[in-house]
Parts: sequence; C-alpha cells; structure tokens
Amino acid sequence: MISGFTVAIDGPAASGKGTISKAIAAHFGFAHLDTGLLYRAVGAKVLAGMEPTQAALELVPDDLENDALRTPAVAQEASKVAAIPTVRAALVDFQRSFAARAGGAVLDGRDIGTVICPEAQVKLFVTASADVRASRRFTELSGKGMDVTFEDVLSDVLARDARDMGRVDAPLRPAEDAAQIDTTDMAIADAVAAAVAMIDTKI
Ligand code: C5P
Repeated sequence: MISGFTVAIDGPAASGKGTISKAIAAHFGFAHLDTGLLYRAVGAKVLAGMEPTQAALELVPDDLENDALRTPAVAQEASKVAAIPTVRAALVDFQRSFAARAGGAVLDGRDIGTVICPEAQVKLFVTASADVRASRRFTELSGKGMDVTFEDVLSDVLARDARDMGRVDAPLRPAEDAAQIDTTDMAIADAVAAAVAMIDTKI
C-alpha cells in the first residue's frame, strides 16, 4: 500500500479541480479531501452567528456533510473567513494528517501545493477562463434548482478570485513546481487523462 503519497490540486472556483480530484482518487484508490468544504463549513457557521476562529477550531467531520454548503452565499462567506489567518491556522493539522494517510491522498483547494503540502509528490494547478468557469457553475447551480443568473454567478466568481488571490495569508497562486492544466477548451476527461499520466510517472 502506498503511504504518504500526496497529490495537491489547486485552482480557482469551478476550474474543474474538484472533478479531476475525484476522478484521480477513484482511479488510484486514494482518499480525497475537498478542502473548500472546510472553509464553506466555517462560513456557514459564521452566517449562523458564530465567531470565525471559534467556528474553525470547533469544526468536526460531520459539519462537512451538508448540502447547504454549496450555495453562493456560503461560497462568498467562505472566501471572507479564508482570509483570516487564525481560521487558516486552525485547519492546517487536519489537512496535513489527511494528506499523510496510508494509501495516498488527493487534496484540492487554493494553497495545498504552496502551504499545506509543499512536499506533495504531484502538484497540479487547474485553471480556466472566468467565463467558462461561471458558465459551469451556473449550469451546476441551476441544475440543482437554484434561482441564479449567469451574471450573478460570474460576478461571484470574479469577487472570490480577487479575494483569494489578493489575501496576504496563503493567496491563491501556483506552486513553482506545479504543472498547469488549462481546462478552458479541454474536456474534463482529457484533463483527467493528463493528470493520471503525470501521477503514473511519480508512483
Ligand atoms: O473550493 P471552494 O470553491 O469550495 O472554496 C470556497 C472558498 O474557500 C474559496 O473561495 C477560498 O476562499 C476558500 N479556500 C481556501 N483555501 C483552500 C480551499 C478553499 O482559501 N485550500
């Protein structure tokens, strides 16, 4: 069994990193952690009235099992709490323990290759144009019956990009040794195949 093999996948909202991460985890039998859910769960608790750092310190795995975490309001709040250094610090140990688990792990987020797992054996940075990302997110949210417009989704995506790239602590950026995959004009299946091929060379 592979031990301590980590795949770090970063990128902006709706770049395709979540789908690629799940496919890689299924292909190699790795565990998968969507680290955005941690910040979304903190954001949801803050919207319910909790203090952000307290919410992060008290987070339990069950808090991540909640469909309400997928709403645009929670996504925006997640990116606000994610700029608070004490919130980020409270979530580091959980993510690093997950990355070190036996059998291999894939973590996707914004700072996995740069801050959480700088020693990851494979680092990918997944991007796509803002229009394509907003269009994917619009299809996903309206498919779930949410009352959203493309314009609103695009402005949410741009606001989160700006906040995530502009914060001082762990800003969104590619690690120097990350391989970049631009999914703007690429089928996700092709992006998955490229990622699988890269990982195969490292295992
Ligand atoms: O990936 P997702 O869109 O669910 O993430 C929600 C928000 O959580 C992001 O906009 C970002 O602000 C924050 N986040 C982060 N670091 C991570 C994962 C997510 O700051 N590793």
